[in-house]
Amino acid sequence: MLLYSTKNKNNQASLQEAVMKGLPDDNGLYMPEHIPQLDPEFIQNLANYSFLDIAHEVCTTLFGDTIPEADLRIILENSMDFPAPVVKLDDQKYVLELFHGPSLAFKDFGARFMAQLMSYFNRGETKELTILVATSGDTGGAVAAGFYKTPGIRVIILYPSGKVSMLQEKQLTTLGHNISALEINGTFDDCQAMVKQAFLDSELTQKIRLSSANSINIARLIPQSFYYFEAYKQLPQSGDPIVFCVPSGNFGNLTAGLLAAKMGLPVHRFIAATNANDVVPVYISDGTYQPRPSLRTLSNAMDVGNPSNFARMLDLYLGTDERSTWNNIKNMVSGYAFDDAETAKVMQLVDQKYQYTLDPHGAVGYLALDAYQQEHPNTRGIILETAHPAKFIDDVEEILGHKIEIPERLAELADREKKADYLEAEYGKLKAWLLEHS
Ligand SMILES: *Cc1c(COP(=O)(O)O)cnc(C)c1O
Repeated sequence: MLLYSTKNKNNQASLQEAVMKGLPDDNGLYMPEHIPQLDPEFIQNLANYSFLDIAHEVCTTLFGDTIPEADLRIILENSMDFPAPVVKLDDQKYVLELFHGPSLAFKDFGARFMAQLMSYFNRGETKELTILVATSGDTGGAVAAGFYKTPGIRVIILYPSGKVSMLQEKQLTTLGHNISALEINGTFDDCQAMVKQAFLDSELTQKIRLSSANSINIARLIPQSFYYFEAYKQLPQSGDPIVFCVPSGNFGNLTAGLLAAKMGLPVHRFIAATNANDVVPVYISDGTYQPRPSLRTLSNAMDVGNPSNFARMLDLYLGTDERSTWNNIKNMVSGYAFDDAETAKVMQLVDQKYQYTLDPHGAVGYLALDAYQQEHPNTRGIILETAHPAKFIDDVEEILGHKIEIPERLAELADREKKADYLEAEYGKLKAWLLEHS
């Protein structure tokens, strides 16, 4: 398998290089140079395959012989060890629950697969690999859980003191083993600047093998395509067109769906659901893309003003000019945006009508699917529920006016002991800490 940079198709890389580097030097994004089709017979018989088999088939089709069959199986078994069930609301609306992993959000799929691939590509190295990550909350939890006990790799997470929720902090600071947390007396931007400076410090990188767990690593995108097939498989056959509705921020999840469609999944359409950060719905409606600073909302994991995967969406549907690219995207993706009041109201409605608890992100998805189905009634829609509602328990209980259930793996975190080293927001402090702990 070869990948290219979205900024320059001649800038190519192997899968190993793309995964270990994260980003090409020209600051584009890695994309597969060729997107192969799955065997049509496999798609017709999806119902006979397990989630693991589906993941295996997608990978072998995409990777070719890059990774030997037996090794790939182990990578997948270690990363795909929780289900992605589809729950029926009514004949038209279904929910794909992507929150059954350790951090209770869909990011677990990407983080775990990336950890396994990195560990695989790192085999044979005698020197430990150090992954440095700055997090504002969610990504760090998924990355920490994903790399937990991965041989040959340690993870150091920088997070802003007092600016992540109690449960998020516990997800970062209680694992131990190969996961260390650094509580920084500063903002998320300070954490990110410190990490960036570490990568540029050749004195440090000569001593320590550093890598990042970047959210736009291709290894996070690929496994997110698996569950579109898995969801399709679980829908009862009716012949009505199937649409996927994706609550979106950086649009990695939606881009993974587009990849699944390009590989042959018979999807009628994707619906991009956003909160007030609506640059992609605006692009879909009028063809202009105008990134802007993000706005803070109830569905805060989607508060993104310049979605990083937009370049990949353009690349997948590239036409002969800007207008034809826009038309290609419009033919495949609809866009809708909603505000916090609408989001809260529909959480109450779904709770009462279906006795189903949506989290704020999934609720934006419900709104968008409902808006689409008002105009296209003979469709069946699958909403991607990107996080467990208990992750946002304070908001959810206040909106619904009653208690909700907390999964055991989240509840038990509260009693675990936090272990983090406290550092001032100065690069020198991070460097000294890294050298002392290498
Ligand atoms: C990250 C995240 C999103 C946004 O996903 P993208 O792939 O960035 O579009 C949506 N919901 C939740 C709960 C998330 O954590």
